[in-house]
Amino acid sequence: MKSTTKPLLDAWQWQMRASCRGLDSAVFFTPHGERGRARKRREEAARAICRSCPVSTACGSFATASGQYYGVWGGRTEAERRVERGVPRPR
Ligand code: SF4
Repeated sequence: MKSTTKPLLDAWQWQMRASCRGLDSAVFFTPHGERGRARKRREEAARAICRSCPVSTACGSFATASGQYYGVWGGRTEAERRVERGVPRPR
């Protein structure tokens, strides 16, 4: 019987071409207590990296499909993804 499952490596192959590969992940994820301008500046720095990333579509799709709650994925912030999911903004 022929297997219909996809090799696991294929599912993650897009990460090998990611522009953020090897960079400090702190650019993409909110440190505890970060707010306001500091958050906006960090998120813009992350989005600038994502803009030139050849796998941003795959990255954004993965974040949506797997329900990634934190971080910038595919050039979209956690707040933007929350809005897309219809989840209200925390107070
Ligand atoms: S889109 Fe951004 S977060 Fe996603 S792999 Fe590319 S650089 Fe990394």
